[in-house]
Amino acid sequence: MVEKRTPIPVPEAQKRVMKNRRTGPKEWVSINDADGRVLAESIYADHDIPPFDKSPLDGFAVQSEDTKRATSEAPVYLEVIETVGAGHVAKPVTKPGQAVRVMTGTMIPEGCDAIVMFELTNEVERNGKTMIEIKRPFKAGDFVSFKGEETKKGDPLVTAGTKVNPGVKALLATFGYPKVPVIRKPVVGIFATGSELLEVEEPMEPGKIRNSNAYMVSAQVMDAGGEARYYGKLADDFDQCFEAVSNALDEVDILITTGGVSVGDFDYLPAIYSKLGATTLFNKIAMRPGSVTTVAELNGKLLFGLSGNPSACFVGFELYTRPWIQSYLASNVPYLQQTTATLQKDFPKPNPFTRFIRSRIEFSEGRVFTEPVGLDKSQTVTSLAHANALTVVPGGTRGFQKGDQVDVLLLQSEGSSQPIKLPEKES
Ligand code: AMP
Ligand code: MG
Repeated sequence: MVEKRTPIPVPEAQKRVMKNRRTGPKEWVSINDADGRVLAESIYADHDIPPFDKSPLDGFAVQSEDTKRATSEAPVYLEVIETVGAGHVAKPVTKPGQAVRVMTGTMIPEGCDAIVMFELTNEVERNGKTMIEIKRPFKAGDFVSFKGEETKKGDPLVTAGTKVNPGVKALLATFGYPKVPVIRKPVVGIFATGSELLEVEEPMEPGKIRNSNAYMVSAQVMDAGGEARYYGKLADDFDQCFEAVSNALDEVDILITTGGVSVGDFDYLPAIYSKLGATTLFNKIAMRPGSVTTVAELNGKLLFGLSGNPSACFVGFELYTRPWIQSYLASNVPYLQQTTATLQKDFPKPNPFTRFIRSRIEFSEGRVFTEPVGLDKSQTVTSLAHANALTVVPGGTRGFQKGDQVDVLLLQSEGSSQPIKLPEKES
């Protein structure tokens, strides 16, 4: 007899997974290996920026007092006593009427208090000396970049949970982090199940298909910030699957299997969870594709039983596994970002359950448009290559027309702090 499963709504399934969230431990990596990693600690300024009063442009450091009476009719002439480039320290200026030629980034010479850019001066030779002619007054502080005006020593710069992007990397370098505190990547074990599976290098055979899920899911794991550990494919054999799953569990933080969670004669994952003594969080979700997505928990480790159907497998990962991995990495935005878009073509299918349609979104003239791509069936694999979003249509609806406003989940964005919110049914 086929076991009766009761579907739960998508947000409830997400909630049950996220109840089992935990944050990973800290580790230190070289700044060169920190790209895309998530900071385990907030980063603070270890010194002021700028670290000294400096010239933000090429010009002359002057004593503003000298320029007080300068006009175009009666210019002031200052003697240029030295030329200094960035990285060098000028001699102190001690006498009135003296100036220093400085380049961008040079520390303001002691005794000077304003910068006059080259363009506002004329250089002249007078009595065998190089002088500059200044035709207007400058105040103390004019064109000076002051010590600490951008950031003060001790200021927090970015918080724990921030992903290292090129800008964050600039901060780490500026503030002396040759080693960066990041959260250890969760180790995510992956098995593909199915006696029909061939590996990528194997030639096609009657009745067999190539295993695409393992490669796709590994890529999704890495994209979400996890360490993907592919253990290989398993034939539909209970003992072999049980043995492999139970051994791998010791070595991973979570375990993903694809296939074998349905109600077919050789779908052994539910029985494996049961023999392991794992608690099933759910085994049926009111969604298409991926209604058979099953998640179980054993000693704090989650076992994600994703569907074997490639599109269903993909969607199951994005909705449930990605947020778990992201929250392990202390991300403040673990969920897919949700927004609304205008449907670009008719979608006439009725929707008994919430449907996640592989789609391509485009931004045009301040609006977002979404277009379903390829065949909308859970077994399709080719449409995934074109999808950058999932169009979400509510269950209990009869289809949608071009021009309708629909919800979309973005597959290539920073993420969101908000779990999925199911769109309302149209009245
Ligand atoms: P299952 O969930 O095991 O019933 O599999 C559902 C469908 O997905 C079947 O048509 C399988 O052949 C197919 N499938 C299962 N695993 C994979 C995989 N790793 N790569 C591609 N297709 C798969
Ligand atoms: Mg199977």
